[in-house]
Amino acid sequence: MSSTRPKLVIGDVNERNVLVSDNGLVALIDCDSYQIQNGTQIYPCEVGVAFYTPPELQGQPFHGITRTTNHDLFGLAVLIFHLLFMGKHPFAVRFLGQGEMPLERSIREYRFPYGKEALIQQVQPPLHSLPLEVLSPQLASFFERAFAQGSHIFGSRPSAADWFNGLKSFISTLRPCSNDRGHLIPSHRTTCPWHDLMKQGGPNLFVSVSFSRIITTSSFNLAIIWARIEKVPRPQKTYSRPALPQGKSPLPWPQNLTSVFPLKPIKPTILTNPPAPPPPKLPPQKYAKTVLPVEPKQKS
Ligand SMILES: [Zn+2]
Repeated sequence: MSSTRPKLVIGDVNERNVLVSDNGLVALIDCDSYQIQNGTQIYPCEVGVAFYTPPELQGQPFHGITRTTNHDLFGLAVLIFHLLFMGKHPFAVRFLGQGEMPLERSIREYRFPYGKEALIQQVQPPLHSLPLEVLSPQLASFFERAFAQGSHIFGSRPSAADWFNGLKSFISTLRPCSNDRGHLIPSHRTTCPWHDLMKQGGPNLFVSVSFSRIITTSSFNLAIIWARIEKVPRPQKTYSRPALPQGKSPLPWPQNLTSVFPLKPIKPTILTNPPAPPPPKLPPQKYAKTVLPVEPKQKS
């Protein structure tokens, strides 16, 4: 009897297979598609989602491929990137070259637009994206290891434990933004990255956080709030038609245009004189109505 435990690889890592409850409990679903290895026996995972599939497997059929933990760790890094970068995909790019750069191709070609090689690879992040430098240098290096060329080599991508420790230490460095209670600033940054985005024309992505804090930290009384709204002075403005320019009056309608303006609509000839419909096509003579002979009654 073998003492080794079966090895599990998720394979089909994607955001629909991970459910997180309000209190942070994570549940993995769709477990029937996991790859299970028991000794030399492998029960494969033959499904996957392209946006979470690592470059080394992009465009390949999953049938017959043995999935590895390093493959899973690509999908894990994409999920963490989604969470930190407000839902953006790490390989969604602005392509500086010719032609199109769909997501599957930028993944396959390791064109990580936040990475050190981005400009050489002719890609930039989409507008209003956070730069990788807002993360701690450790987390930034994790994403480089997960997505850059060479990440396909087994053991290259950061493990789940690496991410846990890196994120935990990063969270402990965050300080509140003095201008918006919904923002947090990493300790190595002098300015608020969320305000920096807004200065570039981006939205305030956490306006709902500051609003909900106002409501939950103070006793919300609709009557008081409504009275405040009513106190806002109404603008004392009424519309008045602008006066005609002095010394100018409108010209009269030209005499020669009265017979043609307004134009009378002309009925299309298709309505006034429709063409005769083509004669109906009758079925060939062999399909003409015939009287079938009566079958003799079946003997009982
Ligand atoms: Zn801020």
